[in-house]
Amino acid sequence: MPFNTFGLRPELLQGIQALGYAAPTPVQAAAIPEALQGKDVIGSAQTGSGKTVAFTLPLLSRLLADREAEGGAKAGLRVRALVLTPTRELATQVERMISELAKFSPVKCVVVIGGASFHAQTQELKRGAEVVVATPGRLLDHIRSGTFNLQNVRVAVLDEADRMLDMGFMPDVRRIMKMLPAERQTLMFSATIPIEVERVVNEFMRTPVRVSVDKPHSTATMVKQWLFPVTEDQKATLLEAMLKAEGVDSVIIFTRTKVRADRVAGWLQRKAIRCVVLHSDLSQSERDRGMADFREGRHTVLVATDLAARGLDVPEVSHVINYDVPEHAEDYVHRIGRTGRAMTAGDAATLVALEEEKLVPIIEAFIGQEIERKALPGFPYRVPPRMKTYRPSLMSSFRMRRRSIPRR
Ligand code: AMP
Repeated sequence: MPFNTFGLRPELLQGIQALGYAAPTPVQAAAIPEALQGKDVIGSAQTGSGKTVAFTLPLLSRLLADREAEGGAKAGLRVRALVLTPTRELATQVERMISELAKFSPVKCVVVIGGASFHAQTQELKRGAEVVVATPGRLLDHIRSGTFNLQNVRVAVLDEADRMLDMGFMPDVRRIMKMLPAERQTLMFSATIPIEVERVVNEFMRTPVRVSVDKPHSTATMVKQWLFPVTEDQKATLLEAMLKAEGVDSVIIFTRTKVRADRVAGWLQRKAIRCVVLHSDLSQSERDRGMADFREGRHTVLVATDLAARGLDVPEVSHVINYDVPEHAEDYVHRIGRTGRAMTAGDAATLVALEEEKLVPIIEAFIGQEIERKALPGFPYRVPPRMKTYRPSLMSSFRMRRRSIPRR
């Protein structure tokens, strides 16, 4: 089913064409027609499924129709659509996607996030925009100081609602939802729908249509996954060997803590592997600069904590390496969701130390599949025999495949 069967306006079809999308992804095919009819929609879809486009197209379509009905110019001065996201990075990415799709229309979008200048945001809001993409805390600051109000919002989107819950934003989200006009459309996307999210649905959405494309918890189908049993003290050398083995085009390395992220980055830099680090202790401008360096290919290695695991839209990533096994199985799914995005296939490797072995069966149960054990050929393993995951006879060898993914 091509995009032009949705009855979208020509300026939006032009936007889609400019992005090079040939056909809708499953979540888009399921959610767009419902949302275009003005219904509330809950999409249980993971990052990488194309969910941003799934809510952006109906949102823009609605704004353009309203604009036409109201005769244009003035419409652009009021905020008509609000997208709430859990992280600043995700807000920036969503804003970019909306602006790309709205490129052939007059709709303007601004991003309102913590860590950036409040004054500059106020100026931007004064100049006028129809779409605001925001993180909850900073949005509330603007509402409290009177620089922004929600009274003209017709479409509200909650992106990654489960992540907002995890990060403790639900009270803020509720506060915001209560301020929205009753006459509105609400769209929500969430990889999982925990009970607290379901409560928000019951309270703030009107007989929503539920759209679920992936089995809950299923990992991106195109991602090849491996476990690398190794001792904690050999992790850094194994990582270096993996990165140097064949060369990788773009890789995100996930660590459990900020301190470990800094340590891994420091180690790689000493080994002449250039990389950028992303975690929440860095200032917004440092994070933005790092992400830009990575996205534009000046650095091919990104070391990140789970902060970056959700939502980051880095479609070129060819590999994910979990330097540490994530403590929550859900984080595993989100981490490896960085690769195998809509149109590429990706590889995900997880280094497992003895102390982390107990997490493996939990993750395997969560994703409903066993992850293949691997070893890097020629690496001088010193794995203790009591490690269950390390059974040399069962371990097939590993070659990191070089993957050429064109950068945008
Ligand atoms: P998301 O799930 O919104 O994070 O999107 C994941 C990636 O899929 C992004 O890089 C989008 O640019 C890409 N994408 C979204 N829709 C399509 C489509 N219909 N065809 C190809 N790529 C898409």
